Amino acid sequence: MQQVAINGYGTIGKRVADAVRQQPDMEVLGVAKTRPNFEAETAIDKGFPLYAAVEERTELFAEAGLEIAGPVEDLVAEADVVVDATPSGIGAQNKALYEEYDTPALYQGGEDADLVDVSFNARSNFEDAVDADHVRVVSCNTTGLSRVIAPLREEYGVEKVRATLVRRGGDPGQSDRGPINDILPNPVTIPSHHGPDVETIFPDLDIDTLGMKVPATLMHMHSLNVTLEEDVDAADVRNLFADESRLFLIPERMDIDGSGKLKEYALDAGRPRGDLWENCLWAESISTEGRDFYCFQGIHQESDVVPENVDAIRAVTGAADAEESIATTDEALGIGLR
Ligand code: NAD
Repeated sequence: MQQVAINGYGTIGKRVADAVRQQPDMEVLGVAKTRPNFEAETAIDKGFPLYAAVEERTELFAEAGLEIAGPVEDLVAEADVVVDATPSGIGAQNKALYEEYDTPALYQGGEDADLVDVSFNARSNFEDAVDADHVRVVSCNTTGLSRVIAPLREEYGVEKVRATLVRRGGDPGQSDRGPINDILPNPVTIPSHHGPDVETIFPDLDIDTLGMKVPATLMHMHSLNVTLEEDVDAADVRNLFADESRLFLIPERMDIDGSGKLKEYALDAGRPRGDLWENCLWAESISTEGRDFYCFQGIHQESDVVPENVDAIRAVTGAADAEESIATTDEALGIGLR
C-alpha cells in the first residue's frame, strides 16, 4: 500500500484524499492544513489524521478543539508520495521540504511548469513521470484539452488546435471571485497561457487558445476546432471517443443543455459533491468538415484533475503502467458515464 500525504486540503486536496482512500493500492497517511475551518473538521470526521502545515498556527487547531497528529514535516517524512494541493505558488515554496525528506511530490496546475521534471496527463504522457521526483498535474483546462487531443493525434494526426475557453469566474465556494455581471476577455492577450500549457504535454503541438471569464461557478466550457492531418467523418470521431473512459459523450436523449443540468445529473447519479471527473462532450456538437473537427465540452474544474493525481501517484512510485493505473482508478471511482 502506497502511503500518500496530502498537503493543502481545499477544493482539490479534499477530493484527492477521498479518491486515494477508494483505491485498492494506496492509503491516506494524513492531510495537512493551515487553519481550522469546516474542511479541517470534515477531515477529522472522515478519520484523516490532520497535520499542521504552518508551525505558528498549530495552536489555532487546539483552540478550535481539533486534534493535530503532528507537524507537516512528520507527514512528509513518513509518506511514499506527497500530493501538494496548496494555492498557486505555495507548492513552489514547499518544494524544498519535499526534497529535504526525499519524498516524491505532485504539484497542481497553478504552479509553473519549470518547477518540475514533468507536466502530467495520464492519457497523454504517463510514462514520462515514471520514477520522477517532481511532477505537475496540469490544470483543469489543460487536462480537458489533452484528453481530447491525445486520441485525435494518435488516430488522425493533428495539424492545428484552436480553442476558446469560456471559464467560470470562481469555484462555488470562492465568494471573493468574479466577475459578478460581466464577460471578460481573460487574458485579453492572445494566445492565452493555456495553449503553451498544453505544449508542456505535447511539445510539438500547434495550438492557439483564447480565454474568457464569465459569471458562472459550475464548469468551464470549451469551444474546440482541431484541424487534423486527414479527412474525418464525425461518426468515426464519436466512435473513437466512445472508447475513452474519461470522455463522456452526452447523448442527445438525455436532454442536457448546459452545465446546470450536467451537475444535476451528476448529483442524481450519486456522484460525490456532484463531481464530473470526465470531459463532458455534447455528442451532437461533434462535427467535421473535411479535415476540421469541432465540438463543445464542459469541464468540471474542481474534479477532472482528481483521477489524474491518483494516476500520477502510481507513475512516480512505478506501481503500475498507464493502462493498468487508469483502469484501476476508473473502477475505484466509478468513472465512465455513458
Ligand atoms: P484551495 O484554496 O481550495 O485549497 C488550498 C488549500 O491549501 C486551502 O485549504 C488552504 O488553506 C491550504 N493552504 C494554504 N497555504 C498552505 C500551506 N502553506 N501549506 C498547506 N496548505 C496550505 O485551492 P484549490 O482550488 O484546491 O487549488 C489548489 C491547486 O490546484 C492550485 O495550484 C490550483 O491552481 C490547482 N487547481 C485548482 C482547480 C480549481 O478549479 N479549484 C482546478 C485545477 C487545478
